[in-house]
Amino acid sequence: MGYSAVKFPVKFPVKCPICGGEVLFEQSLSAIVDAWLHDQAIRLTSRCHGARWNSTDVERNQIFEYAEAIYATTGKSHFGLSYLPHQSR
Ligand SMILES: [Zn+2]
Repeated sequence: MGYSAVKFPVKFPVKCPICGGEVLFEQSLSAIVDAWLHDQAIRLTSRCHGARWNSTDVERNQIFEYAEAIYATTGKSHFGLSYLPHQSR
């Protein structure tokens, strides 16, 4: 599958639903890809207010793009959006 052994963390900005501020959230790449493959929301938390919520489709797509960009900078082969099932809505 081209994305095995990808457990390093990916940091990405999320918007806190309480204060509206941007906070960095950290999740493992494998968990992000897993959520994408299974069409599940990513569980998000904000450090500033301890809010917990599920990502919207838009948030998840943005997170996935972050994950891919960060993965590319590691020098490992690009796992690529192309062979993952896209959910068009
Ligand atoms: Zn907040």
